[in-house]
Amino acid sequence: MQPREALRQYFGHSDFRRGQHKLIEAVLGGRDVLGVMPTGGGKSMCYQIPALCLGGTTLVISPLISLMKDQVAALTDAGVPAGYINSSLSGEELRDVYRRAYNGEYRLLYVAPERLGAPGFVKLAQTISIPLIAVDEAHCISQWGQDFRPSYLEIADFIDALPQRPVTAAFTATATARVQEDIGRLLRLRGPLREVTGFDRPNLYFEVRTPRSKNGTLLALVRERVGRCGIVYCATRAAVERVCQSLQDAGIPATRYHAGLDEEERRRNQDDFQFDRRTVMVATNAFGMGIDKSNVSYVIHYNMPKSLEAYYQEAGRAGRDGEPADCILLFAPADVETARFLIDNGGSDALSEEEAALVRRRDMERLQAMVGYCRTAKCLRGYILDYFGQPHADACGSCGNCRAKYRAEDITTHAQMILSCAVRIRDALGYGVGKTLLIQVLRGSRDQRVLQLRLDKLPTYGLLAELPESAVRARVEYLEMEGYLKTDPDHGALLLTPQAREVLFRGKTLTMPVRIEQEERAKAGALPPADADLFQALRATRAQIARRRGVPAYVVFSDATLTDMARRAPRTMADFLEVSGVGQTKARQYGEAFLETIAAHAGEK
Ligand code: ADP
Ligand code: MG
Ligand code: ZN
Repeated sequence: MQPREALRQYFGHSDFRRGQHKLIEAVLGGRDVLGVMPTGGGKSMCYQIPALCLGGTTLVISPLISLMKDQVAALTDAGVPAGYINSSLSGEELRDVYRRAYNGEYRLLYVAPERLGAPGFVKLAQTISIPLIAVDEAHCISQWGQDFRPSYLEIADFIDALPQRPVTAAFTATATARVQEDIGRLLRLRGPLREVTGFDRPNLYFEVRTPRSKNGTLLALVRERVGRCGIVYCATRAAVERVCQSLQDAGIPATRYHAGLDEEERRRNQDDFQFDRRTVMVATNAFGMGIDKSNVSYVIHYNMPKSLEAYYQEAGRAGRDGEPADCILLFAPADVETARFLIDNGGSDALSEEEAALVRRRDMERLQAMVGYCRTAKCLRGYILDYFGQPHADACGSCGNCRAKYRAEDITTHAQMILSCAVRIRDALGYGVGKTLLIQVLRGSRDQRVLQLRLDKLPTYGLLAELPESAVRARVEYLEMEGYLKTDPDHGALLLTPQAREVLFRGKTLTMPVRIEQEERAKAGALPPADADLFQALRATRAQIARRRGVPAYVVFSDATLTDMARRAPRTMADFLEVSGVGQTKARQYGEAFLETIAAHAGEK
């Protein structure tokens, strides 16, 4: 069978995504590969398709036991014979899986890495035909990665002990060169084709807001997205408790997850989210590894994370189905303090003083970059891709900053006040002061330092008292950017440039672009109202089927597939097969139920 045919027939997709085709061709040509694709990039397809084309049984090594069951259910549903072996199976189930495996019934067999050392499993692997071994989450082999698993180190020996060496294909979302090098070396890949696809996720919309009330903004954002699944990340357990409670009080079906809950509740809450019983998950960063829910349509950060690495990974859990999804960060200057506190108190005892200092310095640099993301007025996507060393266009046109609208505001009077205040301070003290103190004087602050230096006696004291701190700061920074003020690099003092005379004495007017708070953006993936009704009806049908079969809804069909189905509203089985994400087996199994729903919906109109 040809790859494209398999893609169509089993998975109902018409085109390969970036990188997939190349990796699949290499594997089919007998070459090892290392595929580096971002979360949601479609790594699974890169070994599932070859498994279908090659015959025999492809072995998939995956660390995420909790996901194997769903993945295998999804494959079985698509008509691909698949099984898994891990510690969650009962003795009887295990025997059954072994029997089928010996019979060569599976095209794919998922195993946890720990299993590779079990004699019974080694014997099976040495008996059956294994054309391909896929190592998923391959960064687990590296101590430099975030999720080191010692059992991954045994994979290479396991492969060497097989009578015939299978093609070995490794996949990860981790971009750093060091981890990639570890993977190649420790898995002993042979001349692998290394394919690193772009880290850009075009379907993700990025936005940073600095709202006056985070709670109010969060509630509005969640309400606009009612019925869709989202994750709200908070920096601390206490914040998770508070935010989850306030969403629940507002009638939102929210649940929570953090390391302070007992295991039983964590699992229950995770399941509630996984199975769409609760659509909003409020969590600390403890919630993540092992989450493979494809229909998360937004990730809101209630607090700024400590690094862009963490941010991109967490935000990247949105939109794995390829549908438009939103990644919105609610920023407040206090978040920087929280992040600093977490860095200062999060060190490991195992480190020497010197090492700890080094780690802390790196953490602080990462934090700086994260704060830069929150404050930049430039393209947010570009900022992220720069950070990861990836090329990109100047402006993406589809992030919060690229779409922001500005109005021109005449700030001439304010500028005159700011500039003359800086002059007065300098005259009074004999030296210039920094930005913060200047702003305090302009706003009439009763701060100790202001009073001690008697700056409250200046005629310019309190001239801008009616403006919020952020607005005064924005004006000062604008004057600096435009060259009317400059910072003395030695003392950090703000000084006037000769150009300032234009504004103070020659009547030059100044206009500053001021950002208009976003008109509410149409919610991600919004359908026209008629289609949206049908979408809801299709969701109900999907929920029924999922409940009957005891699988998460997205295993039946993803939101992306339902969206396309609502748009096309197929009336015949042939049209149904045209829907993206509908393969032949699923069409046979579910086609009738969905076609009925569509017909009933059309009849009502
Ligand atoms: P990763 O493991 O890289 O994070 P997955 O393999 O879980 O990503 O795939 C993410 C989603 O993308 C899945 O819902 C999958 O069905 C979808 N997908 C993969 N390849 C394609 C494709 N060629 N066309 C459309 N959807 C795809
Ligand atoms: Mg994956
Ligand atoms: Zn942009």
